[in-house]
Amino acid sequence: MGPRAIFYYNDVFRVDLPDNHRFPMGKYESVRRSLQNELREGAVFRVSPTATFDELCTTHARSYVERVLNDELTRDELRRIGFPGGPQSIARATSSVGGTLAAARALFEPGAPRVTAHIAGGTHHAFWDRGEGYCVFSDIAVAANCILREQPSVRSCLVVDCDVHQGNGNAVLFKDEHRVFTFSMHCAGNYFSPVEASDLDIEVPIGAGDAEYCGKLEAVLPPLFHALAPQLVFFQGGVDPLANDRYGKLQLSRAGLRRRNEAVFGLCAQHGVPLVVTMGGGYPRDMRAGSADTFQVIQAHMDVYRGAAQLQNNAARWAR
Ligand SMILES: [Zn+2]
Repeated sequence: MGPRAIFYYNDVFRVDLPDNHRFPMGKYESVRRSLQNELREGAVFRVSPTATFDELCTTHARSYVERVLNDELTRDELRRIGFPGGPQSIARATSSVGGTLAAARALFEPGAPRVTAHIAGGTHHAFWDRGEGYCVFSDIAVAANCILREQPSVRSCLVVDCDVHQGNGNAVLFKDEHRVFTFSMHCAGNYFSPVEASDLDIEVPIGAGDAEYCGKLEAVLPPLFHALAPQLVFFQGGVDPLANDRYGKLQLSRAGLRRRNEAVFGLCAQHGVPLVVTMGGGYPRDMRAGSADTFQVIQAHMDVYRGAAQLQNNAARWAR
């Protein structure tokens, strides 16, 4: 058996939230435990390390990193982020970055798999010196910046952001980094802060379903891979385009999201590009643990990682 996909997880760093809080903190552990039960030896599971001060400073302002780590964010800053301050939140924020960075680094180790993932991260609403929308630091941006520094042969990275919200933070963080191309496909009705310019933005109309959404993605991605010839791909696989999602205004089914995932996976295999998968949005309309919405959202997240493990384990799919 060849190398298996490596999945990092940071659900051990949990933040206690008030009962009426809308962030589904419990989904991370549910997704991870269910994947471990199902995949068994089909993937390797590791606890996410926490990112260091220097790693965070590749991407974020020193003063902002210091204030986060010293628990000195103002009430207003915390309100924009949507989480309370305190040691739990700090550990969660730094491990959300650390797991994605470790996943990216693992692709360059001897005997590495071609697919690694973080069952967390995808925090694409973090900026140089502030955060918003449940994002403190950008895991993908820190990981890409560290890899560019550590692996001089990597000169072209592609961020494929399929969360229902625009990857506004990453768009700004990589504005002047020509080695990282940011692609965001998101819903026209899901902006909660000013729109930023990614290298390529595709806006999907409110209410679009599987056929329209996947048709757009399948038209745009192949020429993008061809033109960029990326040497590393980050896939933000948020599942908030799902019809069961509280915030997302698209009407995708789980089958539609699997087709979306497959569009990304297939191109990585065809071009022989190593891939880091991260999580992202997924907010059940009915947040109760046993609800149908919660089940569908958790399964949709699992579909992303099931697909990633299968991609790694199917050597015949890889071009080179
Ligand atoms: Zn989202």
